[in-house]
Amino acid sequence: MTNPLLDTWTGPFGLPPFETIEDSHFGPALEAALAEDLAEVEAVANSPEAPSFTNTIEGLLRCGATLDRVTGVFFNLAGSDSTPAREALMREFSPKLAAHASAIYGNRALFDRIRQLWQARETLELTPEQARVLMLVHRNFIRAGAALQGAEADRMKAIKERLAVLGTSFTQNLLADERDWSLPLSEADLDGLPGFVVEAARAAGRDRGAEGPVLTLSRSLIVPFLQFSPRCDLRELAYKAWVARGAGGGETDNRAIAAEILKLRQERAQLLGYQDFASYKLETEMAGTPDKVRELLMAVWEPAKARAEADAKVLEAMMHADGLNADLAPWDWRYYAEKRRKAEHDLDEAALKPYLSLDRMIAAAFDCAYRLFGLSFTPLDVPLYHPDARAWEVTRNGDHVAVFIGDYFARGSKRSGAWCSAMRMQSKFPEVQRPVVVNVCNFAKGDPALLSYDDARTLFHEFGHALHQMLSDVTYDMVAGTSVARDFVELPSQLFEHWLEVPQVLRAFATHVETGAAMPQEMLDKVLKAANFDQGFATVEYVASALVDLAFHEGAAPEDPMARQAEVLSGLGMPAAIGMRHATPHFAHVFAGDGYSSGYYSYMWSEVMDADAFAAFEEAGGAFDPEMAEKLEKHILSAGGSQEAEALYLAFRGRMPGVDALLKGRGLAA
Ligand SMILES: [Zn+2]
Repeated sequence: MTNPLLDTWTGPFGLPPFETIEDSHFGPALEAALAEDLAEVEAVANSPEAPSFTNTIEGLLRCGATLDRVTGVFFNLAGSDSTPAREALMREFSPKLAAHASAIYGNRALFDRIRQLWQARETLELTPEQARVLMLVHRNFIRAGAALQGAEADRMKAIKERLAVLGTSFTQNLLADERDWSLPLSEADLDGLPGFVVEAARAAGRDRGAEGPVLTLSRSLIVPFLQFSPRCDLRELAYKAWVARGAGGGETDNRAIAAEILKLRQERAQLLGYQDFASYKLETEMAGTPDKVRELLMAVWEPAKARAEADAKVLEAMMHADGLNADLAPWDWRYYAEKRRKAEHDLDEAALKPYLSLDRMIAAAFDCAYRLFGLSFTPLDVPLYHPDARAWEVTRNGDHVAVFIGDYFARGSKRSGAWCSAMRMQSKFPEVQRPVVVNVCNFAKGDPALLSYDDARTLFHEFGHALHQMLSDVTYDMVAGTSVARDFVELPSQLFEHWLEVPQVLRAFATHVETGAAMPQEMLDKVLKAANFDQGFATVEYVASALVDLAFHEGAAPEDPMARQAEVLSGLGMPAAIGMRHATPHFAHVFAGDGYSSGYYSYMWSEVMDADAFAAFEEAGGAFDPEMAEKLEKHILSAGGSQEAEALYLAFRGRMPGVDALLKGRGLAA
């Protein structure tokens, strides 16, 4: 049987041949790719030659090309276009991949070669990037437990396999809860909702085969519903369903899974000689230690809480004026904040939307990339994995840079949130390879599709990650693009959000979808002024989640994470009318995998830098200052993880930032 996943991809730009790939191909392709990778690694480990950077480190980096291709395609599809068959494959693959990684990290002969090179590193005459790659490979092996032996090594292997299974279950339970819940809305229930919310609810109904409009738990539908629905009873129902994801009892409940994950992580860290998981995890981050993280979060918490408490009073008074004599509840906050926004800033989200069409916002992001970095985007007519996905060729001065895929609309088969991934990373070793980069969002579909300002910001955010991938210019894919410390990876994405706020960008691209008229100056001023509206709320819901995440991973693992969460929140004096941005049972950042565990703070860590980095443009010649753009590309966007994050930032800015620019940017400065 021929398997297109294993064939050489000869189509345009070496893109995966999506039109011929079937779900049944993944299983056999993965088996073949794993076997091939293992054989290649064995050959490196058992080489009769004395270890050298070339035969060992580069040898290792050559391995697994097929595996990269197969998993690159599979994980993109599993996240953005899942089916029961793909979910079953996920469950099958994750323990296999974990076992495979364990086999490689547990290869004694291989580790011995790496250790010898590490010990001899001063004598190897490596380039700075090679020295960095050697350090990373050696550190990865140590952190994976390669130095463990016997029973400890066996236990480590078992823990990792179990964690992989638990992470997958956590995600799938969440997806199931999000897919299973919907609330049919009668015509009367739609009263007071702006057109785009009605339209999105109707589209969601059609998507789910319902008779009429429905409310779903997709963030891009439920958040505007909570913002606009005057029906307190429906808001309460919807909000409670939203925050109950993963905590509904029964088969999809994530609470016991979360507890087991935390226990296993703690045991894993201690096996490796760390006092707790947070210390282990933060060792490779720019922040370095839990104390540094807490210091940052607490510096922001108090001003944010003070602002949120003052705001709560205003909102509660508005609610009482509405004749509702209850306390302000979490399902009321967004509704009254929206009313207040209208009253104080007179910014009507519904009137704003026609100026923020998806196509114009994509064009805006592309134009900024052109003005800053000379990148051009040409639509490509190539087979992709879903009719909603679109592709562009990215060039500079006529030279191919990357393929960029945008997959923007919410659908039942897509996990929630927004993300950027690479189906292929940039590298020059063993041969030149340009990246294939995907942005996935969950915008409500419409004809034409209109975005909220938040959506537009998400689009710019993910595009900033895409630039980090597309402009990458390193030798080894191990340090390419977004392969950087977790608390540094959000710098390019959050920094790029600032260009959406540049008046000339909005003026040129925020044009009315029907008339083509530019956004009126008055509306533009309001958009910019409203950008830090309700930041007390946003900061509180985020920082609370980050502090709970940190507390979960410091010291002994909690027996009952829900109790630990409650303890942290009460210790903080969490305002009653604000929920965590992500509570434990649906905190996928922390439990779907290791990525953001004791690392949810990193968005804010990056924000400290992005506020400061954008200020560097403003201090120079403005948002499109060519010299700053060149520095940004040279020291940050093209450099990937080829140096320590702190060194990269210093090279770009000449100094490290404090928390002031962030507080000022969020309107929280005293
Ligand atoms: Zn991001």
